[in-house]
Amino acid sequence: MVEAVVGANWGDEGKGKITDMMAEKADIIVRFQGGANAGHTIVNDYGKFALHTLPSGIFYQHTTSIIGNGVALNIPILINEIKSIVERGVPTPKILVSDRAQMVMSYHILFDQYEEERLGGKSFGSTKSGIAPFYSDKYAKIGFQVSELFDEELLKEKVVRIAEVKNVTLEHLYHKPPIKPEELLEELHSYREMIAPYVCDVPSYLAQAIKDNKTILLEGQLGTLKDPDHGIYPMVTSSSTLAAYGAIGAGIPPYEIKKIVTVCKAYSSAVGAGAFVSEIFGDEADELRKRGGDGGEFGATTGRPRRMGWFDCVASKYGCRLQGTTDVAFTVLDVLGYLDEIPVCVGYEIDGEVTTDFPTTAKLEKAKPVIKKLPGWKCDIRGIRKFENLPENCRKYVEFVEEQIGFPITMVSNGPGRSDIIYRGSALS
Ligand code: GDP
Repeated sequence: MVEAVVGANWGDEGKGKITDMMAEKADIIVRFQGGANAGHTIVNDYGKFALHTLPSGIFYQHTTSIIGNGVALNIPILINEIKSIVERGVPTPKILVSDRAQMVMSYHILFDQYEEERLGGKSFGSTKSGIAPFYSDKYAKIGFQVSELFDEELLKEKVVRIAEVKNVTLEHLYHKPPIKPEELLEELHSYREMIAPYVCDVPSYLAQAIKDNKTILLEGQLGTLKDPDHGIYPMVTSSSTLAAYGAIGAGIPPYEIKKIVTVCKAYSSAVGAGAFVSEIFGDEADELRKRGGDGGEFGATTGRPRRMGWFDCVASKYGCRLQGTTDVAFTVLDVLGYLDEIPVCVGYEIDGEVTTDFPTTAKLEKAKPVIKKLPGWKCDIRGIRKFENLPENCRKYVEFVEEQIGFPITMVSNGPGRSDIIYRGSALS
């Protein structure tokens, strides 16, 4: 059985916590896209962790963690992450890395920085982890695949070829020092040494696991609105954030994905630039940011304050639909307990017309939120384990959102810990 955990919105919905929780019953957890540009925050018996590359199932001894071919693999970051969790008492995890994964090279990170510098105020708000230059090279067919590390002749020829291409841009566009082929070769040798113990033919491994009836979890990064095809292009990430891509980025048949858990946060947050219709500002935003998540809404990778907003039914309905949602996990509901009234964005007004369909970017830029206010519940709901024990207004909030988005909310998360979860039967499921 293959299940996916993905985000409906701009990322930071709490996927890490849900994956960590679901991983208890899983055998294998696979990262299938993205790189070290976003982070998952996980709180469990070992402490609080911000993971950037490792799958969120890494904390269980019975699981195998896999970096799929769709990932932008930064080898030094992966190795440091493994070291840092082991140093904090987590048992050495079983990790496999696809021999078809491609590697983020040091020049990808530099190109990311140089491009943001060049764009100045018009920048995309990149985390400067090299992700966009990495995926550009992958599709331009000039990337380095893990399998190539073990072919010395190929490497020797390729470093010269790559340096030649990259140095034109470095010299003429960015006016920066050129890449030396011999240094590139050294970098690749160091990666070979670091990654060798983990390299695996992942699709074969997963095919056998499927035959053996193992439970496989696909863990997505970011959310639908950051998808390069279906998101708020061009303010998107460079790899698909959709569950469908899980089949490609892990190397399994698409029809094996039976359950798609889409994570939605009870309010909205976003990092980086781009349209954010239900965004709030000033004291109202500061208050929500301070109370949000577990210790405030600040980026797990960059520490940047996140942009804040109310729950957006239009974006979330769209986000859930594109994911192919079978279950919604509705997270961070406890945070809203301080509000007398909870605003929710139920429509977009574009050129005088109200719609509940999420538009393409040019129209989205013009959208104004249509807000409905629901009564708050004014108390702390952490520790509650049954849906019927939640305050009435809180239940109504969940039911209202479910009706608006049209997908069953079967899990409600009311705290950052593994056990802070309420399972619920939904009329929609
Ligand atoms: P991800 O990238 O989707 O995994 O999300 P992040 O890790 O960036 O953000 C989620 C934040 O919310 C983390 O700090 C989590 O510990 C925290 N979190 C997750 N679920 C809940 C919840 O139900 N309540 C509270 N208060 N915090 C939560």
